[in-house]
Amino acid sequence: MKYLTEYRDGEKAIRLADEIARLISQPWAIMEVCGGQTHSIIRNGIDQILPDQIEMIHGPGCPVCVTPLEVIDKALAIASRPEVIFCSFGDMLRVPGSQDDLFRIKGDGGDVRVVYSPLDAVRIARENPEKEVVFLAIGFETTAPANAMAVKVARDQNLCNFSALVSHVLVPPAIEAIMNSPGNRVNAFLAAGHVCCVTGFAAYPILCEKYKVPIVVTGFEPLDLLEGIRRTVSQLENGEAYVENAYPRVVSEQGNVAAQAVIDEVFEVTDRGWRGIGVIPHSGWRLTEAYRQFDAEIKFTVSDIQTCESTMCRAGDVLKGAIKPNECEAFGKECTPRNPLGATMVSGEGACAAYYNYGRFVQLDAK
Ligand code: SF4
Repeated sequence: MKYLTEYRDGEKAIRLADEIARLISQPWAIMEVCGGQTHSIIRNGIDQILPDQIEMIHGPGCPVCVTPLEVIDKALAIASRPEVIFCSFGDMLRVPGSQDDLFRIKGDGGDVRVVYSPLDAVRIARENPEKEVVFLAIGFETTAPANAMAVKVARDQNLCNFSALVSHVLVPPAIEAIMNSPGNRVNAFLAAGHVCCVTGFAAYPILCEKYKVPIVVTGFEPLDLLEGIRRTVSQLENGEAYVENAYPRVVSEQGNVAAQAVIDEVFEVTDRGWRGIGVIPHSGWRLTEAYRQFDAEIKFTVSDIQTCESTMCRAGDVLKGAIKPNECEAFGKECTPRNPLGATMVSGEGACAAYYNYGRFVQLDAK
């Protein structure tokens, strides 16, 4: 497959790992921010061919995992209403709320529909004027342009029966929160290539400067990741800390200007709670005043939600990189993808699911 197989070449991967081994002289902890990168690292055994001095710490970049429990419970309350058609991407349906998940609401007769684009939800609203159609608009900067466009189209088409339950989160404030967290061990970051494809990477130099951490924009295939790690180690070993773009076939410094314009029109920055982590200042987007009429939290009265998180689940520690998933006592026992206790075991980008699906049931002594 063109543009994929050449980035999965095993011999080149080993050569890159050898080059990293020649560069390194001391232990370094590198965080891959994105859950998609975590899955690629574990699926391809990249952490296992790296020198022992490198620890890959899995970051909080899984949108399903960090969506606050309160938002999930609000989604469940809205989806239970008889007048509502509730639309969501499929990976949100099994995310556990305090009591239920969207699958159970659907099983109990709720009209919960999986969509493949936010614009599908807009179409459903157009086709069902007697119903209230609500779209669960979550994610990082990657999903924001399409979600913003859906709200904009709904306004342009005067669809008063469409609204969005918005819980968007942003990468740069999360990096800042990780660097400020007590006991932080991260020496450098692999920034998520798809996020930077939208935003560019102008927000990162100030973080490199402030925290003296290299940030390398990195893709998702094995050679992308190894090249990102190689550049990161090179900076660390030379005592440098700046932004590098190791994913230039996709990412430019300015990003997607058209997408940024739609986001800026529809969303504004707000404080946002992250599941398992807590509130991070200025780390999310909400609808601007001009689009507030499409805010499902305002349209539906769901403000008196009382949340109840599993006492066994250590997803917060996993998301902060404090533990590996297989260090959680419930991993593979009480908690499996079929019976998840936390969102990190549900999502296709969740670290716990990655460790379970690729057989990482024990801690590697070497890492
Ligand atoms: S293994 Fe399950 S219970 Fe443990 S942290 Fe992960 S999601 Fe939570």
